[in-house]
Amino acid sequence: MKKIAYYFLSIALISNSAFAQEENASPQKGHQNTNKFRQLYDEFATPNMYRNASGAPGASYYQQKADYKMDIVLDDENAKLSGFETITYTNNSPDKLKYLWVQLDQNMRSKDSKTPLIETGSVSQAMRPSTFVNDFTTKPFDGGFNIEEVKDNSGKNLPHMINRTMMRIELPKVLEPGDKYSFSIKWWYNINDHVTKRGRSGYEFFPKDGNRAYVIAQFYPRMAVYSDVEGWQNSQFWGRDEFALTFGDYQVNITVPADHILDGTGELTNRKEVFSKTMMQRYELAKKSYDKPVVIVTQAEAEAAEKTKSTDTKTWKLHAKNVRDFGFATSRRYVWDMMAVKIGDKDVMAVSLYGKEGNPLWEQWSTKAVASTLKTYSRMTFDYPYHKAISVHAKQQGMEYPMICWNWGRPKEDGTYSDRVKYGMMGVIIHEVGHNFFPMIVNSDERQWTWMDEGLNTFLQYVAEQDFGEWYPDALSPKDKHFPSDRGPAEMIVPYMGGNQDEIAPIMTKGMNTYQFGNNAYGKPATALNILRETVMGRELFDYAFKEYANRWKFKHPTPEDFFRTMEDASAFDLDWYWRGWFYTTDWVDIGVKDVKKYYATSKPNQYIKDYLKSQGRTIKDLVPLVYMVEEGSADFKESLKKDTPLEDVKILKEYVMDNFTSEERKNMKTPKYFYNITFEKPGGLVMPLIVEYKYADGTSETITYPAQVWSKNDNEISKALALEKEIISITVDPNNETADIDTSNNSWPKVETVSDFDKFKNKSNK
Ligand SMILES: [Zn+2]
Repeated sequence: MKKIAYYFLSIALISNSAFAQEENASPQKGHQNTNKFRQLYDEFATPNMYRNASGAPGASYYQQKADYKMDIVLDDENAKLSGFETITYTNNSPDKLKYLWVQLDQNMRSKDSKTPLIETGSVSQAMRPSTFVNDFTTKPFDGGFNIEEVKDNSGKNLPHMINRTMMRIELPKVLEPGDKYSFSIKWWYNINDHVTKRGRSGYEFFPKDGNRAYVIAQFYPRMAVYSDVEGWQNSQFWGRDEFALTFGDYQVNITVPADHILDGTGELTNRKEVFSKTMMQRYELAKKSYDKPVVIVTQAEAEAAEKTKSTDTKTWKLHAKNVRDFGFATSRRYVWDMMAVKIGDKDVMAVSLYGKEGNPLWEQWSTKAVASTLKTYSRMTFDYPYHKAISVHAKQQGMEYPMICWNWGRPKEDGTYSDRVKYGMMGVIIHEVGHNFFPMIVNSDERQWTWMDEGLNTFLQYVAEQDFGEWYPDALSPKDKHFPSDRGPAEMIVPYMGGNQDEIAPIMTKGMNTYQFGNNAYGKPATALNILRETVMGRELFDYAFKEYANRWKFKHPTPEDFFRTMEDASAFDLDWYWRGWFYTTDWVDIGVKDVKKYYATSKPNQYIKDYLKSQGRTIKDLVPLVYMVEEGSADFKESLKKDTPLEDVKILKEYVMDNFTSEERKNMKTPKYFYNITFEKPGGLVMPLIVEYKYADGTSETITYPAQVWSKNDNEISKALALEKEIISITVDPNNETADIDTSNNSWPKVETVSDFDKFKNKSNK
């Protein structure tokens, strides 16, 4: 009997329809487990000795090593680059290797490259002349590698086979686990004009003075990665998906015209040979300047240098330890400035190289943006381990290498610039310098997973942009209180996630197979992480786990699972549902409030109970005494109830409960007067925390966040029963727009009537 009483109580508060549903429930049919909170066992690789179940490197984790010694010569006259390199490859894997794979990225630009053949498109109705010339009248540029020799260290030719951007080198005998092998490659290629022919590397030509500024990368045959996950990562370079690279030490000698200024990955080991006395003195000052850059080569000196061309050469010697790649920039047109920045107990140099075209923007903000980025990223991950970070100005570029990156952002010829150019320049510098952390140090496989570096990096870019705006308020335009980040905040991703599903792929898709590359691999993962930090986990838990991931995998090769697992392992936050929804599907967020019913408690049986008893052939006397809930506005309510009946006046409660407590005890009891049955709906596929702001009649309000698991048993609709001392006057779901809800028209009760732009237009024209 008692059981029945409780049963009635609970169903009365849920809803009449729930009771009906239970009665009419159709016979169970077998179905797949599609619960959104099920663990990702089917999607994740099984943990093993190389990568363990907590997301850390396992007991047998290994990675290969590739050390390079290179002599590089720039032929400025003919825009040709040639090199001789010796690679020492260490096999730390437990496997015997019969051959080695080397990446020849420049072959993407060879005459017979297949990249243009997979490009699709139609003739445009109108084209810029430069696009027309580029697309229809320009002969294919031959920028592929010319491999002149591949030899072992006794000078014997090594058999090799080139399959487009990959070269397989046959080893004279199997490379045993733990063994090293040295070989050399001699090569040259024609450098492309990156402004007219695009590309992540190349030169810009300045017709007024006949000089070039070179930003050089992917310029040497590079070892492919061999790992426990992919074996040889020899997926071809089509031009889109970036790089998978092995860590190693580099000794690089670069010979360029004597009047060039050069900087690149690694420590300059012959500074006194290549610097003038004045430059040396300025450099010493820069090392002690923590608040503003010191100019090493002034604009006047750069402008003087561009008027002549030296026929002498100079060799710049760079030495880098534990980097995954090497890049450099060289030109006689460069202005050069530097400042010191304290990272932990070490000084790091923040450096900028730019032509006069970059000023006045670059001399003001580039080096400060570099320094600021290093501080934010070090705080969020680990102390920046290298001794410098360089930002090079290059037209239309945004590209990253260890310690050096290329960035766009050029004022007009009269030196003026728009906010778009200014913030764009600051944003791209922060982003590309940030790439030092992901993927240069936390060395994920870019060829396979674009989001692992771009997504994580764009998320931290947002954090760093906000810091930069705070630390350098005079970098902001007067109208802006904060740095106007265009990726990170939840509402920025709404148009993409709510857009055409035919043009959206899950984040967990190889880059070149996605649509809307920027939204897929940069914007959405950055937003997903920002929401995870701000809304789902909270900063303390998120930041600890994110830092743990960065530290576990710095100078190593993580996979997506290593990231997903570490974030859970370090926080005790089950996030499989979050990864599944945001990273493995194209679902979107749409949560709303569907229905609100208000009830009052009474001792008088309501019509629902009376009808039920009648149908069962029973009477009220068959039940234990019950408290009845009467819906406001119902027939029962109209008949019998005063809206403001105090709980103590509910006769049955008084007799059965209240009288059993002392007056002291009763003081500590809640005395709710208003009872609500609130139905929330979720038309969107993503499960998310349900954030609800309740506003009360007394002018107060509170926001309650129901964890995402509130949706664990019903993915479409749930109800909450509330017993309150105050009357609710309004309910708003996601009041601060922090979940990327794509349709907010169902987010309020009472419904807020919003006039669409179309209706406004219609009303106007009807007048
Ligand atoms: Zn990037």
